[in-house]
Amino acid sequence: MNQKISRRSFLKGSLAAAAGVAASGVPGVKPALASDGSGQLATLIDIRKCIGCEACVEACNETNSRKYPEPKKPFPKMYPSRVKVSDWSEKRGVTERLTPYNWLFIQHATVSIDGKKTELTIPRRCMHCVNPPCVKLCPWGAAKQLKNGISRIDAGICLGGSKCKDVCPWDIPQRQTGVGLYLDLMPSLAGNGVMFKCDRCYDRIARGETPACIEVCPEEVQTIGPRDEIIAKAHALAKEINGYIYGETENGGTNTIYVSPVPFEELNKAVAKGDGKPRLDRVPDAMAEANNLAAAMIIAPFAGVAAAAVKFMKRTGKNA
Ligand code: SF4
Ligand code: SF4
Ligand code: SF4
Repeated sequence: MNQKISRRSFLKGSLAAAAGVAASGVPGVKPALASDGSGQLATLIDIRKCIGCEACVEACNETNSRKYPEPKKPFPKMYPSRVKVSDWSEKRGVTERLTPYNWLFIQHATVSIDGKKTELTIPRRCMHCVNPPCVKLCPWGAAKQLKNGISRIDAGICLGGSKCKDVCPWDIPQRQTGVGLYLDLMPSLAGNGVMFKCDRCYDRIARGETPACIEVCPEEVQTIGPRDEIIAKAHALAKEINGYIYGETENGGTNTIYVSPVPFEELNKAVAKGDGKPRLDRVPDAMAEANNLAAAMIIAPFAGVAAAAVKFMKRTGKNA
């Protein structure tokens, strides 16, 4: 494993090469990824291949930094004061967890394979659920799902109330205070900023390019394509390596499919968990629960609260 790759030099070379290929129209960049409305795109992540070089993390930062928040300070005082300030603007360099300024990070797990201790590294970001509760339960319609399956939060509409995070089984979206619509509407009473997460480089995909993290990876850890093809590839790979799949059924199915040589229960025990560090255990379908218990409230502003309550009651060992 080559742990000594210079992330910055690799990134620059790879992105420059990719840009050149794209500009020249030479085969290699996949124009088939341009959104044609024909179905959801998914990614396959082969955990065995990841060397933890973080070129993908840096590529995500460089590609998407123009979408990052630039908060106004001092922040308005909030009433009630239980709405906490979340300020990452002075910690933009943090890369070991998800933040409003870091939408992808590398999780580390030391596990035993064939009796030998091995470290696996796992790229983590939004799972892009097939039926995303963050989208369906956002009280303000700020979270949207595109026809190609990408879920994204519109920073121009979001009030930072965190319902998307409350109903996300992996607590993915991260809030930055002092930015967004609430400052113009009710700076002391509503929301507290804007929620941020991986938008799967929707703008690059719309141009027929692959997401930056996929493009730059030296080990081709990720593959992107139509969900049914990705699921078929994941099963073939899992069969070949006698491995395990995560994401096909979690939360009713996601558009991020991991294949691992060790059971995900083992990986989940081995990774550090907590805010901004999502788990890897089995996850029931949050929307099925929400539909059963709060069907009449789905489009109501309180639907997010209901679903969060359901999650709280059902969830066991979330941060264990
Ligand atoms: S996914 Fe690729 S770019 Fe990211 S850490 Fe793993 S090997 Fe490096
Ligand atoms: S993982 Fe969470 S934030 Fe991402 S689409 Fe699913 S519910 Fe939404
Ligand atoms: S798909 Fe784009 S936004 Fe999402 S983690 Fe990769 S580079 Fe970042």
